[in-house]
Amino acid sequence: MTAVATTETALETLVDRMARREVAAHFLIPADQPPGVIRPPAPPMTVHILTCPVCGADGTTFAASGVTLPFAEWRIAGAHQPTEPGLPTMTVLGCEWFAPRAVLPVAIAIERFGPAAASRFRSRGVALLDSPDLPFEAGLAQLDRQESWLGTLLAGGPGPLPEAPAYTVPAATRLVGPAQSWAAYRDTLTARFAGPHTSDIDGGRWNDAYLEIRRITAAQTLQGYATCPA
Ligand SMILES: [Zn+2]
Repeated sequence: MTAVATTETALETLVDRMARREVAAHFLIPADQPPGVIRPPAPPMTVHILTCPVCGADGTTFAASGVTLPFAEWRIAGAHQPTEPGLPTMTVLGCEWFAPRAVLPVAIAIERFGPAAASRFRSRGVALLDSPDLPFEAGLAQLDRQESWLGTLLAGGPGPLPEAPAYTVPAATRLVGPAQSWAAYRDTLTARFAGPHTSDIDGGRWNDAYLEIRRITAAQTLQGYATCPA
């Protein structure tokens, strides 16, 4: 097998596993939870906004966009401002936001393990900034390893959460920013699985693949056909 084919196969495996992991996180709510009951409740968080090194979007961009994040109380803090004592933190780039269902594992982790243990979360886009020179495949492999903490939630046991400097949220994000055209607006509707810009690699084919696997797996899970192993 050639090196190109090996990389292709490795990427297919990684993208497939990450998409299924996100779906598994979406289905963490027990099936017997009564309709209309929101549990766990959205936790209060401090949101740190990092300036995106690609597009330059920062906390000001984020605040001006009017996008909200699905937490009970949240305030934007500068990238390096001190954290409010006792509040878990979420770090995102200035050009991305999470849909409510994406942060369900965050809410469950805080409820189950407490804000002292489940204290620091970040997006995939932020996590990739740790090693900006990694090739795409190696970057995804790193994200894949970092997201294994979700397994503790899926197992349903008492934990503890694995030690980590920050827990990478296993979810795609969406773009923020004022859309000046229909094409730009449509772009903001497309979820991006590896951060706002890395997802465009290879013409966005891996992002397309991720979203298709996520859609099919979610549909199959709703119909009782898939178990979403993460
Ligand atoms: Zn950006």
